[in-house]
Amino acid sequence: MRALVKSHAEPGLWMEQVPIPEIGRRDVLIKVRKSAICGTDVHIWNWDAWSQKAVPVPMITGHEFCGEIVELGAAVTNLSIGQRVSGEGHIVCGHCRNCRAGRGHLCRNTKGVGVNHPGSFAEYIALPQDNVVPIPDDIPDDIAAIFDPFGNAVHTALSFNCVGEDVLVTGAGPIGIMGALVAQRAGARKTVITDINPIRLQLAQDMGVQYTVNAAEESLRETMARIGMTEGFDVGLEMSGAPPAFRDMIDTMNNGGKMAVLGIAPVGFEIDWNKVIFKMLHIKGIYGREMFETWYKMIALVQGGLDVSGLITHRIGIDSFEEGFAAMIDGSAGKVVMDWP
Ligand code: NAD
Ligand code: ZN
Repeated sequence: MRALVKSHAEPGLWMEQVPIPEIGRRDVLIKVRKSAICGTDVHIWNWDAWSQKAVPVPMITGHEFCGEIVELGAAVTNLSIGQRVSGEGHIVCGHCRNCRAGRGHLCRNTKGVGVNHPGSFAEYIALPQDNVVPIPDDIPDDIAAIFDPFGNAVHTALSFNCVGEDVLVTGAGPIGIMGALVAQRAGARKTVITDINPIRLQLAQDMGVQYTVNAAEESLRETMARIGMTEGFDVGLEMSGAPPAFRDMIDTMNNGGKMAVLGIAPVGFEIDWNKVIFKMLHIKGIYGREMFETWYKMIALVQGGLDVSGLITHRIGIDSFEEGFAAMIDGSAGKVVMDWP
């Protein structure tokens, strides 16, 4: 089969012929229909410090996908051939304390699909049956193909109660925009999203996020005054991984505010811990999706009318993958969804 492989320890991905994955008794084989590019894939493309440590070479990349089951392992009973599915990209061990307590998203031994387990930029992907999520007929392929990042957004935005709260989202990347939309749908009073890239802010505005702020041009204090906020944000969703955005958030949270932090900073950075203490802030790190509570919630949100399709700015064939990565790297894309023939 054809697959996009990290085959050399240097920037780039290469389309190669590789064997179709073999499946174990509890695995399924899925024919990939659509696969989307994640920021993680861009890190792997760039071969940055994180990916050099995390990704063994060669490795089939990609983890955001939708496809169809074509083969079942002998012990798989709850799925069927021909079923349309997506899949959870974190493969957990099942035997650590958190796994055994039903908290799979907190597993200590997580493997990442497309990171250290062969991924979805391929004609076929093999996954453990427990990772497979059937997709209802009324959800289109390209939306199912972005359920992984949508799940990051849902997990983050629903970490704290947003009803009647003022919510700050830093970073209007695809995940930040989806997080803001989920907070709004969950009943936030005011929702503000920041970015420094006007293309991303325009996309947020077009998608219906209530207030957009260019953090390079206006301070959040000025924004708060402009929109009639007198105290501070009750809930913060950090979706940029940018240290200045994290500090802006701490500065503008109300006392007792709750922050859910998804954005990954390229290197460690300092914050003023005394502000965290004297403001009595709650800070929660978010990694991935809750298994599988987040998946139930996101399917229900889409079926209930939350439309995130406007985030897909590029729909391309897999042979144009270089064009897709270029749009991700220069920040002009929302989501890029690639078709496998
Ligand atoms: P993205 O890179 O597309 O979006 C980040 C946005 O932050 C960009 O639009 C960028 O312009 C903006 N930004 C940069 N500096 C800023 C500043 N000072 N103030 C406000 N915004 C600023 O990423 P994404 O795919 O939307 O993902 C969001 C973040 O979450 C990334 O850091 C990503 O690495 C991380 N992530 C974490 C997990 C997890 O499980 N924890 C999963 C997926 C992604
Ligand atoms: Zn575990």
